[in-house]
Amino acid sequence: MAFAYDDTNIFARILRGEIPCNTVAENDHALAFRDIHPKAPSHVLVIPRGKYVSFDDFAANASDAEIAGFMRLCAEVIKAEGLGLEDGHAGFRAITNAGPHGVQEVPHYHLHIMGGRVMGPMVS
Ligand code: ADP
Repeated sequence: MAFAYDDTNIFARILRGEIPCNTVAENDHALAFRDIHPKAPSHVLVIPRGKYVSFDDFAANASDAEIAGFMRLCAEVIKAEGLGLEDGHAGFRAITNAGPHGVQEVPHYHLHIMGGRVMGPMVS
């Protein structure tokens, strides 16, 4: 089963409140918190509250409300971190890693939002 969800992953434990995180913003459908090993001055992870393994799982199987809630929380984070082009800021990188070829470490869908410096080449 390609999308079997492992309830013991670290982000599932964060969502259950079993381990702490540094929350940036949240709503009914998603949670945003600081990456524990930031790769940029601003490095925030946005995750859905629902059990989705990866981007493709989330995009195919989440409800419209979950997708909207997730995207609106991303917008809130971008604004709060002072990264958004529409506010005249310098921008950011938003990436997601999926599966072995994407080198995804945590099997709960998450979007990395990184900014505060010029990013290097994307592929490595
Ligand atoms: P990669 O580590 O290759 O970027 P992922 O896309 O799965 O793989 O990213 C997992 C991210 O989660 C990493 O950037 C890592 O630093 C971060 N992370 C792992 N554990 C925690 C935690 N407890 N709190 C916050 N961030 C975490």
